[in-house]
Amino acid sequence: MIQHNPSYNEAKTLINSDLDCHWRQEHPQHNSKDAIHKLSRAEQVTIFRLRTGHNRLKHHLFSRFKIGDGPNCPCGANRQDAQHVLQDCPLLEDARLKYWPKPREINQKLYGSALQLGITAEFIYASDLTI
Ligand SMILES: [Zn+2]
Repeated sequence: MIQHNPSYNEAKTLINSDLDCHWRQEHPQHNSKDAIHKLSRAEQVTIFRLRTGHNRLKHHLFSRFKIGDGPNCPCGANRQDAQHVLQDCPLLEDARLKYWPKPREINQKLYGSALQLGITAEFIYASDLTI
């Protein structure tokens, strides 16, 4: 609601509040407590790409854009995607054990605390994968 002759700052506050309200209605799944917001921009991009599957891993590039020689991982698995890279790929076993000495569920690696998400990003950087 616009007040009679609001000051510049009052008008600005009202407009921002209105925009914020609309944005929240249009993005009901937004979680402001998601630990991804505590990461650096580069780490956020890495985690977001792993979460959504919109990344440069071979499965997505090949199945979506027919880029590359196929969706297979160099280890021979038929699908190089986030699940395979984070959890299963034998070529990344040493790095996986370095970053996660104890097995960790993929849900924690992609949706856990800021510390866990940071470790996931570090693992990806250390593994020389292009995400
Ligand atoms: Zn593999």
